Amino acid sequence: MAKLICSSCQKSYSENDPRWRCDCGGVLDIQFTPEFDVDKLRRRPFTMWRYREAIPVLHDENIISFYEGFTPLIDIDMGGISVKAKMDHLFPSGSYKDRGASVLISKVKELGIRHVVEDSSGNAGAAIAAYCARAQIECDIYVPSLASPEKLRQIESMGARLHKVSGSRQDAAEAVLHGGEAVYYASHSWNPYFLHGTKTLAYELCEQLDWRAPDRLIVPVGNGTLLLGAFIGFTELLTAAVIDKMPKLIAVQTANCAPCAEAFHQGQDDIAVIKDRPTLAEGIAVARPVRGSQIIKAVRRTDGDFLTVTENEIKEWLHHLYYRGFYIEPTSAVVFAALSGYQKIDKKETVVTVMTGHGLKTQKHA
Ligand SMILES: *Cc1c(COP(=O)(O)O)cnc(C)c1O
Ligand SMILES: [Zn+2]
Repeated sequence: MAKLICSSCQKSYSENDPRWRCDCGGVLDIQFTPEFDVDKLRRRPFTMWRYREAIPVLHDENIISFYEGFTPLIDIDMGGISVKAKMDHLFPSGSYKDRGASVLISKVKELGIRHVVEDSSGNAGAAIAAYCARAQIECDIYVPSLASPEKLRQIESMGARLHKVSGSRQDAAEAVLHGGEAVYYASHSWNPYFLHGTKTLAYELCEQLDWRAPDRLIVPVGNGTLLLGAFIGFTELLTAAVIDKMPKLIAVQTANCAPCAEAFHQGQDDIAVIKDRPTLAEGIAVARPVRGSQIIKAVRRTDGDFLTVTENEIKEWLHHLYYRGFYIEPTSAVVFAALSGYQKIDKKETVVTVMTGHGLKTQKHA
């Protein structure tokens, strides 16, 4: 049986308790022992649900899926170092957030919930809207009014109620808490089931590398759902002795919004209070990530690093990637911008990254 555990006060709750945070206000994690039988999954369809026994949804009939996952892992030459990129912009809703949404909305269905709210810069909202539409669960999505218009259109088209909040991404997060008392908050930043979907990135990567761990994983970080999911996934694989080392996690933020990177470099455990400025990388424009201290801790534990990139570097690398045929969004370009100036990588290392979002969603902004 899985349990929900508070990361602040350690209080525990049943997995059948429809709650998204602890009574004390702390974030919840899932205590759960995943099972692995690498031989058994060889014969299964190539979707993220092939790791069925590692996903804390109890009954198969609750699974909400588009047969997503197992995206291609492609080699990209970055001038001397070779990088492998997971093409997660090819997911059904156009971003890796479908990994989290599939598991979270499956659990929502399992809990018998019929109506959810979520706040997002766009991609998480689009993913939650798509999975709710497939499950026929009602949903309300709060977004900053300046988010990419394509993402807003996508959310509305799938039948979600769209609430535009003027101001920052943080203002949208606060608005949802006022609107959301009576319904379930299906938040990608708070809800731990989302992370048990994003963790399948780590499983797929290791399987595609013939059950070896990469040396480094470099990802963009806003709320940290990709990074923390990867940390959970690699930790589980290591505990199950499927892999024999922990990859170093390299987190990238923009110089205009770097609450975790600043704290990390100052040796702090909690996020820095920052005055954020707008950034092209709207997917990671998160000034106060609720799991900020978990993100910093995960990076430290893996002997990883935090890097930041400027707006000009993002633009430059976005266009380099376009010219190589990769139509991704600016938020996905930040890792390539960061890698281009990063000296600590040995040529022999296996370095992996993720193309997190599709370029078709940000044409008006990029
Ligand atoms: C959400 C998102 C990210 C980063 O995810 P966090 O969970 O906020 O760290 C990166 N790229 C894109 C395109 C996203 O939508
Ligand atoms: Zn608590």
